[in-house]
Amino acid sequence: MKIICIGRNYAKHAKEMNADLPQSPLFFMKPDVAILRPGTPFYYPNFSKDIHFECELVIKIDRVGKNISEKFAHKYYSEIGLGIDFTARDLQQKCKEKGHPWEIAKSFEGSAPLSKYFIPKEDLELDNIDFYLTKNKEKVQIGNSADMIFTFDQLISYISQFMTLKKGDLIFTGTPEGVGPIAIGDELKGYIGEQEMFTVNVK
Ligand code: ZN
Repeated sequence: MKIICIGRNYAKHAKEMNADLPQSPLFFMKPDVAILRPGTPFYYPNFSKDIHFECELVIKIDRVGKNISEKFAHKYYSEIGLGIDFTARDLQQKCKEKGHPWEIAKSFEGSAPLSKYFIPKEDLELDNIDFYLTKNKEKVQIGNSADMIFTFDQLISYISQFMTLKKGDLIFTGTPEGVGPIAIGDELKGYIGEQEMFTVNVK
């Protein structure tokens, strides 16, 4: 399986990063070992001093497809989950300055905590999904899929022009504003609506 992550899919997050709005989706990838299974702690890595959380809705692909049209994209997923795209902001800044690839900042082991649950899309209004992240019980990010620049279906259609999507692939759909640092001892909890989707303890 592969993990595809979308960058700058919320206008206010692009603004807080001083980045332009994309004309087409920006994506990058994480390896399968980036997945942090539910209930597993995240160990703060030695290579960074500035790991940030980015809470994101996650599409689980459940059918093989290539060159999928936007119109039919909805047939390629049936559940939505929630995850975090952990980012080593200090390394990312260096990569950006040097024009280097982002992998060391984005694709490290455990950098993609994933919810235990996925919600059937019939139970959601796809263009109006509320979600939020708490850090030590304080709400730090609040998002709604209505604010995405590119919809789930547009993302699937775009990505599938470049690579075949397969069953089990995950698409992290971008983060709303409010990203920030984590520290050892923090407890992060993600919610869709009021349903708790994951807890991540930072050790
Ligand atoms: Zn992200």
